[in-house]
Amino acid sequence: MYRFLRVILPLAAIALAAIPGAAQSFDIVKVADGVYAAIGKPGVYSNGVFVVNDDDVLVVDTHLRPSWAHDLIAEIRKITPKPVRYVVDTHWHPDHVQGNQAYVSVFGKSVEYLAQHNTREDIIRKGIPSVQDELTKGVPEAIQLAEKTLSSGQDKDGKPRTPEDRTRLQEQLKSLKSYLEELKQIQITLPTITFDRSLILHKPGRDIHVYYLGKGHTRGDVVVYLPKEKVLMTGDLLTNGIPFARDSYPVEWVSTLEALGALDWTQAIPGHGGVQQGKSQLEKLIAFMKDAMAGVQAAAAKGMTLDQAKAAIDLTKHSASFPNFKNGSVAMVERAWAEVIGKIQD
Ligand SMILES: [Zn+2]
Repeated sequence: MYRFLRVILPLAAIALAAIPGAAQSFDIVKVADGVYAAIGKPGVYSNGVFVVNDDDVLVVDTHLRPSWAHDLIAEIRKITPKPVRYVVDTHWHPDHVQGNQAYVSVFGKSVEYLAQHNTREDIIRKGIPSVQDELTKGVPEAIQLAEKTLSSGQDKDGKPRTPEDRTRLQEQLKSLKSYLEELKQIQITLPTITFDRSLILHKPGRDIHVYYLGKGHTRGDVVVYLPKEKVLMTGDLLTNGIPFARDSYPVEWVSTLEALGALDWTQAIPGHGGVQQGKSQLEKLIAFMKDAMAGVQAAAAKGMTLDQAKAAIDLTKHSASFPNFKNGSVAMVERAWAEVIGKIQD
């Protein structure tokens, strides 16, 4: 199974169980006139955004499942009858682009999908194969495991499962099975307009800036910036925990985050987690990453091994800043190590 999905799947499987039902996948939060954050409910996990313009709508990110993108379209329709004309893919990860097809299926071929060049290339190179891997191996194996776990009737310590535990597992199994069915229908829709550094949509009454500010969480992350509304949509460059780091470029990520900080905004809509007021979470992430990078660089300069480096680098003073500190910081250090030692291969 593709390594990204090994990480994402347990999250998705746990979370999917809590899905409340069609068209209730998101909490819609109005952040400015015509600008709405769609915060993924626990099962849905990743966010979207929609911006209602004079004659059309722009959407940012499309989630893991096309059905969730359809749920978001239902939410958009509660607010406006205008058609979605633009979809921004902030990066290639499946939980941000696998729902792309929903927009072309509802609004027709005039929908344009905007992304950085590298993102389009990575969707082709990694995103499309990962759908096949999930379909043929990842999800079937997870289903098998869930079935085995359920039928054993015992938890990992050999104790009998509680009724709540069984219900949770059954719901996970159900959601994995429905995800498998949905995967069969996924035809990844590729970005139709790509760019290197920036693209600006000049709409009546509003400019929408899409920026690539350097490598970070992936090698193609873009942010969407509304200068008039002072709103920034960050994709996974900035989330409410330590962002997923396994495909990242942590050293360069720090300067990309600093470039985000230099923009004039008061609210950020992250790829995961709630709307952020002000820049405090960004500052926490930068501080954590700078310490992590300094630790990695010092350890590498001393000729340590990765294991020695992991033992020597103490980042615990940042633990209160992130709910996923334990796993998130390990992933960040490991990936930074690969970047510093020069082993990252695109
Ligand atoms: Zn991501």
